[in-house]
Amino acid sequence: MQNFTTNAINLKSYNLSETDKIVVMYSKDKGIIKGVAKGAKKSTSKLGGRMDMLIANKLMLHKGRNLDTICQAEAINTFKSIRNDMDKLFYSIYCSDVVHSFGVENDPNSEEIYELFYKTLEAVSKAKDKVSLLLSVLKFQLKITHIAGYSLELETCACCGGKLDKENIYFSAQNGGTVCPECKKHTIKAVKLHYKIRDFLNTLLQLDFDAKTRYDELATEKICGFCFELLSRHVEQFSPKKIKSAQILEMTK
Ligand SMILES: [Zn+2]
Repeated sequence: MQNFTTNAINLKSYNLSETDKIVVMYSKDKGIIKGVAKGAKKSTSKLGGRMDMLIANKLMLHKGRNLDTICQAEAINTFKSIRNDMDKLFYSIYCSDVVHSFGVENDPNSEEIYELFYKTLEAVSKAKDKVSLLLSVLKFQLKITHIAGYSLELETCACCGGKLDKENIYFSAQNGGTVCPECKKHTIKAVKLHYKIRDFLNTLLQLDFDAKTRYDELATEKICGFCFELLSRHVEQFSPKKIKSAQILEMTK
């Protein structure tokens, strides 16, 4: 049996016994991993609060026959201000659920997904207002579906591949992006999409997560909220698991 080290962000935990819990994490090297946190439920635990949700740790794990054991955890980032703000907490839980759904064990995309998730939590944690919070979440939604192979189509008709007339663009989650008026007729729940919103989403999709755009100043809470709903439908369409926190966000609006 050997030990291994990796960086990982805590997604969920389950009780294993009176004192121990199993923590489900997304790791930089292996995608989804699970580890037993011995004594984590005791106040004197040497792992302390580092096993709480949405904390990034540098870990050492001991490889077990069935389950690995967390031997050491050193906090890299606790994303502290997420915990002091309901909005930040809800959207972070949503992102965590999406990572849990799209992520797999021995994930070939683990490094990219880990970096994206880390940057998102960091940006959400530092967000000064609702618009900057939502902008980070929109980038997360666009990029994680792109990494998972379900990139949102925004340049041509996702259905027939035809060119789009900018005055007549529709969005269809069912088809994975923009559709033309003809294809819209055979699509359920397609909504009209202003070309400026299409351009906005396309910019967020194309540019690096940290890149500054003119939308940092121009975007409004209303537009970002509308886009969050569209992208949630896109995420839901291709998500291997149901994203339960999406319904909570829907209710809190
Ligand atoms: Zn079409």
